[in-house]
Amino acid sequence: MPDFVIAPPPTITVPVAGGSLFPVRRIFCVGRNYAAHARELGNDERDPPFFFTKPADAVVTHGADAPYPPATGNLHHEMELVVAIARGGANIPASDALAHVFGYAAGLDLTRRDLQDEAKAARRPWDMSKAFDASAPIGEIVPAAQIGHPAAGAITLRVNGQPRQSGDLADQIWPVPEIIAALSRLVHLAPGDLIFTGTPEGVGPLHPGDLAEGEIAGIGTVSTRIG
Ligand code: MN
Repeated sequence: MPDFVIAPPPTITVPVAGGSLFPVRRIFCVGRNYAAHARELGNDERDPPFFFTKPADAVVTHGADAPYPPATGNLHHEMELVVAIARGGANIPASDALAHVFGYAAGLDLTRRDLQDEAKAARRPWDMSKAFDASAPIGEIVPAAQIGHPAAGAITLRVNGQPRQSGDLADQIWPVPEIIAALSRLVHLAPGDLIFTGTPEGVGPLHPGDLAEGEIAGIGTVSTRIG
């Protein structure tokens, strides 16, 4: 054993449908990838994709509660398709990008919207609005070997049973192959990376006790109660 001065942190994992585990290396997220959501936040839908990150240990799995985070009065849900990367690479052409994908999941990009609005206004980083503890609930990953690479399908979120977000993967401004191509021009993608691919319109607040349940047709679900 190496002479660690403190206990090394545990490997963060996401369950894979069927019982195995996907080890998480990094979490990348796409901002503004559905035209109607870009418009609802007052942005130009033709902007090229941009990225931010969350730490791997922001993931919440197995339907566990996500505690209401400190320092916000406006926690928002963003329901998203998540891509799990199996093969790394840099400068991956879009035509080869899907060969790098292990599988897909449904996830929530939880956001402290008030802190994000302040950060945007002050031109400060988004980390504390996006990358806080338990900010990335995610459902089981389903292997592309089982379901292929869905490019269309309903993506929905209900809160306490009431519809909140409703869109279709086909409405992504930048589809998955283009996202992988663009991100791999910025960083060397690696096995274990997750990519949250942006949210459709209908984002809104969550309160303590709320049950958020998301579904992507043909892929799966994500469920978490706000603690
Ligand atoms: Mn998002």
